[in-house]
Amino acid sequence: MDPAPPPTDSAAIRRRNLGLVLRHIADHGPCARTEVAAATGLAHGSVTALVADLTDRGLLREDDALRSGTRGRPGRPLRLEPRRAAVAAVQITSEHLRVAVADLAGTVVQRETVPHDLAPGTPAAMADAIAAVITRIAANLAERTDTDRSSDPPAVLARVAIAMAGPVLDDAAQTVVVAPDFGWMTEVRLRDLVAARLPGPAVTVDVVNDANAAALAEFHALQRNSRGLVLIEAGTGIGGGVVIDGRIHTGSHGIAGEPGHIPVAMDGPDCVCGARGCLACYAAPEAVFEAAGLTELLHHKGLQAAQSELLTLLNCADPVALTALDTAAQALSAAILSITALLDTDEVVLGGLLYDWFPWLAPTIDARLSGRRALAPRLGLRITPATLGTDGILLGALGFARRAVLADPAVVPTGSNEW
Ligand SMILES: [Zn+2]
Repeated sequence: MDPAPPPTDSAAIRRRNLGLVLRHIADHGPCARTEVAAATGLAHGSVTALVADLTDRGLLREDDALRSGTRGRPGRPLRLEPRRAAVAAVQITSEHLRVAVADLAGTVVQRETVPHDLAPGTPAAMADAIAAVITRIAANLAERTDTDRSSDPPAVLARVAIAMAGPVLDDAAQTVVVAPDFGWMTEVRLRDLVAARLPGPAVTVDVVNDANAAALAEFHALQRNSRGLVLIEAGTGIGGGVVIDGRIHTGSHGIAGEPGHIPVAMDGPDCVCGARGCLACYAAPEAVFEAAGLTELLHHKGLQAAQSELLTLLNCADPVALTALDTAAQALSAAILSITALLDTDEVVLGGLLYDWFPWLAPTIDARLSGRRALAPRLGLRITPATLGTDGILLGALGFARRAVLADPAVVPTGSNEW
């Protein structure tokens, strides 16, 4: 998810400039060519040529009314044609493929949940299932617009983001390092596996880490004027993501944003990651349920049953359950102090099971943060529950795919599409 390296050849420069123009109009339109030139720093003649290209791809249209109040010759304002291209997100869980489709304005136009019963450790079979879903979505889009009998070019599925529960390298192949939830214990080139199963080259596929996608979605959903945030969420262990300046911070290899393995106790228990006393040892669901005496329920009835029983106990002020949450909150506080000291983010969002636990976590976290807040009240460090619930991953992956098309609109063909 890092920015692409600066282009060097003229074709790459043109592709980048197409993205500059389209993104500006998507974010600030409708606007005239002169406004686009001023905002992007491109020459007016270049903007005119780029707009012609984007119009030919069906991504822009000119308003009929002339724009008044601008200096020089009045121009017809340009607007994004959001229905021309669609993007899709596929979230893989152990039981389902959750799928959503959106237009280029970000409006979700289709959602579905497709059950699967794939055996663990079968990435090729998973790629078959994902490719089948993508192929069907693309066909449905083309069919629907045909029956609309609209004069508009048919919608094309331009980009798909697959949200994966596991670290995803920042290399060209977007390699999934490991995904224990699915029994993938070695590297998997999921993007290549899926792309090889699609009927044509028209759809670009990306694989993104699920918690990173969720962090980005929370950042956009909060709509505060902050530059970044850190998401910490509990589900299978503790995951998270770091957003800085509106972008996912990927680190050197693409796997930054693992708050579960921040050590919070010098003399804590050994952790699976090779360190000791990590946040996950105290605040991951398994650890909290064990401290609350619910391990057997967790193993026999599953995560939801254990969570439901824990919430019942907390609502009855059960002292063992309250102590378990206090321990988790102490550990979270230590991790939050470390994270914010290092990154200077002013927002930490707690998601997944931490969202449900928030009323019991917040008082302890507030108390532990009070010293730092008193020293630097201007920093306004906020700890907030996630706003998107379980939708964060899917919406984040959709947002990633949408921004990728706006940044590189050349993935949308000119004239009628080939699907
Ligand atoms: Zn660890």
